[in-house]
Amino acid sequence: MDLPKTADVVIIGGGVMGTSTAYHLALKGCRNALLLERESFFGMQATGRCAGGIRHQFGTEINVRISMLSLLMLDRFEEELGQPIDLRYCGYLFLLTTEKDVAAFRQQVEMQQRLGVHTEWLEPAKIAPLVPLVNLEGVLAGTFNARDGLADPSSVVQGYVSGARRLGAKLLNDVEVTDIRVDGGKVQDVVTNQGEVSTPVIVNATGPWLGQVGKMVGVDIPVVPVRRQIVVTGPIPEIPPDFPFTIDFATGLYFHREGPGILTGMANPDQPVSFDQSVDMEWELVHLEEAMRRLPILERAGLASRWAGLYEVSPDAHPILGHIPEVPGFYCIGGFSGHGFQHGPACGLLLAEEILDGAAHTLDITPLHNDRFREGREIVEYNVV
Ligand SMILES: Cc1cc2nc3c(=O)[nH]c(=O)nc-3n(C[C@H](O)[C@H](O)[C@H](O)COP(=O)(O)OP(=O)(O)OC[C@H]3O[C@@H](n4cnc5c(N)ncnc54)[C@H](O)[C@@H]3O)c2cc1C
Repeated sequence: MDLPKTADVVIIGGGVMGTSTAYHLALKGCRNALLLERESFFGMQATGRCAGGIRHQFGTEINVRISMLSLLMLDRFEEELGQPIDLRYCGYLFLLTTEKDVAAFRQQVEMQQRLGVHTEWLEPAKIAPLVPLVNLEGVLAGTFNARDGLADPSSVVQGYVSGARRLGAKLLNDVEVTDIRVDGGKVQDVVTNQGEVSTPVIVNATGPWLGQVGKMVGVDIPVVPVRRQIVVTGPIPEIPPDFPFTIDFATGLYFHREGPGILTGMANPDQPVSFDQSVDMEWELVHLEEAMRRLPILERAGLASRWAGLYEVSPDAHPILGHIPEVPGFYCIGGFSGHGFQHGPACGLLLAEEILDGAAHTLDITPLHNDRFREGREIVEYNVV
């Protein structure tokens, strides 16, 4: 398909954020939205490399409210878009090993319950029957929510791509945005490797590249790329189908069932900011040693695959969502800091509302506007994995 000369909205980036925004714009009646993705397939970057976790358990009200909306949308995704997404409610189990985390999570559970989220507080004796294969040494308490779980990121992206196209949006691959022209203070054209498109509205949905695209309009979008990596094992027959997504919060180690094996990751706290997506084998050794300590059965498993991807990290671990006041017509959706896949459905809807209706109304997203950093309104998320 050729690059059109004009569009009502140009979305840059075809991960979960861009495709969800395209679908929700089209659903709300915008018939001339154009999405440009530089890769040959959609969802190849952060979205396609993520662990697929979906959870209600966050530390700030805004994140819990976004999760509540997003998980409802994922629940009815197949019905709405005709695309199965391998939704599994295996639950998320957080293991807490420090007094500081115990205190923080106690407050979080109270807040979540006040908002109508049924997260349970668990003493160690209640944790053991949930995960008999896990070594609970040092665990002081835990939290569990049976309505947290997993979904398949590529299927979610594919559902939104097909849904947006059915409603008239154009979504193109192999088109790289190289510059943005601003005139009279407003966005005018998107410059690409295949020509130019005139548009009054541009959405920056480039995930780890959000800051680079912000520079094209002279705006500081404080989102940086940080490498995170994953290992998937071969079959482990002892792992039950309902094995929960388990997180050792203090170390950042997590694992969940993936096919017949286990998918595991652990954040390197000293990982420098970089676009490097090669696997760091030294860190993988540290990670696997810790993983085998918590889940000793891993010692018997073979390796099926490994990969690295990029978190798109913002200073307060909340997304930058909405218009950028310095450049009328320029919008951002990114900086989810490790939990964007699950928030993609809700945030695409909320941004479409802000673009077409002037403000998001399903939820108030003004706390997530980029000017919070300038105005000292950061809202720090504790529960980052
Ligand atoms: C290892 C790992 C595990 C994770 N686990 C989870 C999890 O369990 N649950 C969860 O919710 N989240 C998880 N995340 C985070 C989640 O993957 C991201 O927050 C989310 O996918 C971000 O989506 P996005 O659309 O903003 O970015 P992306 O998926 O990266 O999409 C951005 C797109 O923009 C394109 N692009 C960039 N620049 C240009 C340009 N100039 N022109 C055209 N196209 C461009 C890129 O090619 C890319 O496809 C994880 C991430 C990683 C790396």
